[in-house]
Amino acid sequence: MKMTKIIQMVVLLILLLGLVEQAMAQETKIKWFGHAAFSITTPKGKVLLIDPWLSNPLNPEAKDSKDALAAVPKADYILLTHGHRDHVGDAVEIAKKTGAILICNPELAGNLVKLADFPAKQAATDAIMGIGGEINIADGEVTVAMTAAVHSSSVFNPKAGPNEAERAYGGNPAGFVVIIKNGPTIYHSGDTAYFKDMETIGEQYSIDLALLNIGGHFGMEPRIAAKAAKSVGAKLATPHHFGTFPGIAQTADTFAAELKKLKVNFYEMKPGETISFRGAKQLIK
Ligand SMILES: [Zn+2]
Repeated sequence: MKMTKIIQMVVLLILLLGLVEQAMAQETKIKWFGHAAFSITTPKGKVLLIDPWLSNPLNPEAKDSKDALAAVPKADYILLTHGHRDHVGDAVEIAKKTGAILICNPELAGNLVKLADFPAKQAATDAIMGIGGEINIADGEVTVAMTAAVHSSSVFNPKAGPNEAERAYGGNPAGFVVIIKNGPTIYHSGDTAYFKDMETIGEQYSIDLALLNIGGHFGMEPRIAAKAAKSVGAKLATPHHFGTFPGIAQTADTFAAELKKLKVNFYEMKPGETISFRGAKQLIK
């Protein structure tokens, strides 16, 4: 082979590798840890954790006394929909380990610092927000909007004496819309009941992926959760908050069947599974 031919082939290979790298860099990765806990990794590599109860019984990384936190070496932001223990989860330990910034309402942030030893500096930034508001994070790569949720919110107080309330104020419960530059727009419903104004979320944002609580009992039953997917105009609906403990739905079958009737795309993640979006729309399983 002539030298020029070899040089041409090497150049071609370098160009191809560059294209692969560029394509990879445009990927947004979404991982489900079971229950309401997800991580979102942006194309630029920022990691957002939502309701990080990583030690929940569905998480394969928490089984057989494995340290679930070991599987999350990096987190830049922790988003909490409300103060219940199955949503705050391991947020304090993760914050201490990673330095992640807290995104939630001020009452929840204040009480987590006071009662649960959440690192104060990470809970007192301009990422503390309220329902209806939007913030820009990750050097402008991500916009987070806090949306309404119909539920309750309180913070467990491990320091409560015998005559003190076991639960402190947690502000209003919420959902989140996470808008990623060169990536999808993701709605996480928190633990909400269905409400008709979910249609307003769909009018304001173009939801590519809706992560919906479907377990019932404490929030939306599977049938109405499918209606929620329709109301927010989700292009794809994925269930969470089911099968974790007795009292909430154990499968997503009803949710899937109802979505089919409403002609909304459905994808059920397995606990521990990661899905990727290339750009905003293209889902790679
Ligand atoms: Zn819950």
